[in-house]
Amino acid sequence: MEIRELLSNTICSLADNGIENAGFEARQLLEFAGIDRMTMLTEPNGEVPEELGEHVTRLVEKRVSGYPLQYLLGEWEFYGLPFRVGEGVLIPRQDTEVLAEVALDFLNTLPESERVALDLCAGSGCIGITLAKLSRARVTLVEKSEKAFAYLKENIALNEVESLCNAVCGDVLDDSADFGEFSVIVSNPPYVTKAEMERLQREVRFEPEMALFGGNDGLDFYRRLIPQYTKSLKDGGLLAVEIGDSQEHDVMDLFVQSGYSPLGAKDSGGFCRVVYAVKEK
Ligand code: GLN
Repeated sequence: MEIRELLSNTICSLADNGIENAGFEARQLLEFAGIDRMTMLTEPNGEVPEELGEHVTRLVEKRVSGYPLQYLLGEWEFYGLPFRVGEGVLIPRQDTEVLAEVALDFLNTLPESERVALDLCAGSGCIGITLAKLSRARVTLVEKSEKAFAYLKENIALNEVESLCNAVCGDVLDDSADFGEFSVIVSNPPYVTKAEMERLQREVRFEPEMALFGGNDGLDFYRRLIPQYTKSLKDGGLLAVEIGDSQEHDVMDLFVQSGYSPLGAKDSGGFCRVVYAVKEK
């Protein structure tokens, strides 16, 4: 089979099975199987080794069953940086770049010596590692799941920020936990509601429930994290959390109850994606 035929067959199989960006995904899968982009472009008539074709077929079969592309590839980009992903860890979302951006903007106003951040429910580490890599912040990343924690450690090494990052495998809701004092605290906690859990997109069903489910109304983590971590935040420091659809008012109320004057930051679709506040001096 020629490369062009394998590519068009792959696009058709994906599209016929309801995969939206079939062209993009097909190229990603071929590249992952060993045909680089340049070869796809410049040698479309090149012969595909049989084994490679079979590998692509297996990848397509798994993908059309709903298995996430990111888990098949084993790596995904966040804020221009690479992150290893696989079963047991939440896939970094583009939406979450809003949270990273709010935190980076704030960190960059501080002298480097004062850039000390805490990432709660760190998962793959994409937020905290981005802060370390791009602002040279010293970051403590806390993640409870051992499976996710293995990816977190791997991603710290992959992004070469070992000297800036302190990874802790632990429960952020443990009352006795004390990770120190920080000028920035960020979190993308589980915030999917019970009702939303029942109608998750099929790809998301392969992701860990532990990283998604935030209790009946999705607000369990905010209720506890905001008061609990206020004492770990330096005066003049930033607390910023990602939120789910239509949680803006409830999460802002929780900030107000802990003495903050919160603001919201929108994603590219115009939805409030992050609630944040600076702790008064
Ligand atoms: N954004 C994720 C989703 O919609 C949820 C991530 C989370 O709960 N923090 O699937």
